[in-house]
Amino acid sequence: MASSYPFVDHAYDVVVVGAGGSGLRAALGAAQQGLKVACVTKVFPTRSHTVAAQGGISASLGNMGEDDWRWHMYDTVKGSDWLGDQDAIEYLVREAPKAVYELEHWGVPFSRTEDGKIYQRAFGGMTKNYGEGPVQRTCAAADRTGHAILHTLYGQSVRREVEFFIEYFALDLIMQAQSDGSSACTGVTAWKLDDGTLHRFRAKLVILATGGYGRAYFSATSAHTCTGDGNAMVLRAGLPLQDMEFVQFHPTGIYGAGCLITEGARGEGGYLTNSEGERFMERYAPSAKDLASRDVVSRSMTMEIREGRGVGPNKDHINLHLDHLDPAVLHERLPGISESAKIFAGVDVTKEPIPVIPTVHYNMGGIPTNYHGEVLTLRDGNPDSVVPGLMAVGEAACVSVHGANRLGSNSLTDLVVFGRAAGLRAGEVVDKASAVPDAPASATDAHLARLDRFRNASGSTPTAELRREMQRAMQSDAAVFRTGGSLDEGVAKLRAIHARGADIQTTDRGMIWNTDLVETLEYDNLIDQALVTIESAANRKESRGAHAREDFPDRDDATWMKHSLAWKRPGQDVQIDYRPVHEYTMSSDIEYIKPKARVY
Ligand SMILES: Cc1cc2nc3c(=O)[nH]c(=O)nc-3n(C[C@H](O)[C@H](O)[C@H](O)COP(=O)(O)OP(=O)(O)OC[C@H]3O[C@@H](n4cnc5c(N)ncnc54)[C@H](O)[C@@H]3O)c2cc1C
Repeated sequence: MASSYPFVDHAYDVVVVGAGGSGLRAALGAAQQGLKVACVTKVFPTRSHTVAAQGGISASLGNMGEDDWRWHMYDTVKGSDWLGDQDAIEYLVREAPKAVYELEHWGVPFSRTEDGKIYQRAFGGMTKNYGEGPVQRTCAAADRTGHAILHTLYGQSVRREVEFFIEYFALDLIMQAQSDGSSACTGVTAWKLDDGTLHRFRAKLVILATGGYGRAYFSATSAHTCTGDGNAMVLRAGLPLQDMEFVQFHPTGIYGAGCLITEGARGEGGYLTNSEGERFMERYAPSAKDLASRDVVSRSMTMEIREGRGVGPNKDHINLHLDHLDPAVLHERLPGISESAKIFAGVDVTKEPIPVIPTVHYNMGGIPTNYHGEVLTLRDGNPDSVVPGLMAVGEAACVSVHGANRLGSNSLTDLVVFGRAAGLRAGEVVDKASAVPDAPASATDAHLARLDRFRNASGSTPTAELRREMQRAMQSDAAVFRTGGSLDEGVAKLRAIHARGADIQTTDRGMIWNTDLVETLEYDNLIDQALVTIESAANRKESRGAHAREDFPDRDDATWMKHSLAWKRPGQDVQIDYRPVHEYTMSSDIEYIKPKARVY
């Protein structure tokens, strides 16, 4: 195998896979520590999904009224429905202001207040004084915040001499057994898409920053490239993923197209109505109303539609109104979504409501890490065992700060805070003087065998057909509301679709720009994650955050206040175990926030 696919060899202190906000921040952080850093990415860095982030990045700067990191912490813990680890949440909210000012100094063109400070807007679930009323905490560059951050971070990474390997598709992690029985990561293999060569990146540390896997669903706000490749690489390496049953539906995807209308639209005063013209959120969340957290708003919209009060000829969506807002404000603060509404819904937001529907948006689950970014696994009964040589950041990681439901604008904060933390940790754990580990052929043979199998796959089912069936099954059976029946049906369907992978068909046998093969590798990555998601969901018999079970409508802290860990080793069934939620904070500056009923 190795002889028919020769590797071009590279050696670095640190190899980051992914050039979204988290990957760039981690790469630049590791470079600041004097390490030799490579960044491998399947798309051009500034095309990563982070570019599409609209609404903003949360930090308790207090530019628009009083704010406090403790309030931000309370909101995040409550938003997570007490599944978040409070030590990590404390780290997130305390580091957030520093991380935002750092972005400002690097050149992110934030919108400004009259007196020149960073502009902040209201967002769902963000409150003052422990739930008293909305606070303006979300720092924004109009409604193109991710675009501004990504471009700035790319420029800064180039300045720090991070070496970029662009349009290289990472295949698998190089894992090697250690003398103590654990395995360590010593690099990653990749396929260079434009010339068909294969590359072996040996490294002292690999940081996965490969983003979410929204494309396991039929309708998602995320880019077509969001296929969770890093998560699947972790599963193939025999390591677990955490809390995969928690998938966030954003309340306001454009009906039909799936593109996002930022929560910032409601933050600026927008509101939802049903077919009777009623502002129904007042009934479901009397205090926060349209700015309740995302799981709550998505469920309320779904209830309205189910009870026959949806809008449109099929009564199957909801209206979002911005037409009462000053057109000058829309032009200044929400220019991007005004354009998207025009193009994708044919709507002039100054005159008509936008047709919207809850749409898959974010994966709370992912690769378990501590707040330094180090990947964790369950070993010898210890659920916090660090996997040597491997870190994960961004949407691919599950730190876990978002728990069962992420608050809007907390992801961009997560990217830069934990990207920065990973860079700092790299400076501590990577020995600059040591040699980069070697990789025997036996450590990469399985990577090549997988590539070769799909390249020459001569079954009878095209990749697109399996992908469509997977996406449909996820959309209908792992939805906003779930029942034991729908989940068991979903598990059966997805196992069957997974098994049909043996009959997959590709037609392009080349190595150069073979999109058929790229999509097949991505599908293979997605199906493992889809299976782990639905099996974890069927297993969790309670409702918490984004996981709403009609047969178990209540949160059950006694049994279920724990993280799910799920393994899917090649050729084996999904296995599930657990990790305790960290019921402690990072410092003594704040006490552990005890679970209580979650109302908005
Ligand atoms: C439309 C939209 C709007 C959003 N708005 C907001 C917002 O306003 N505020 C907020 O906080 N959050 C928002 N989010 C969420 C947030 O933007 C994302 O969670 C975040 O940007 C993910 O960043 P990331 O660095 O983890 O990964 P991404 O930005 O998704 O980047 C992934 C990177 O990994 C690389 N990669 C993946 N697989 C491979 C492979 N096999 N080989 C090589 N490279 C690979 C890709 O090339 C890419 O560079 C939004 C999300 C969406 C979809």
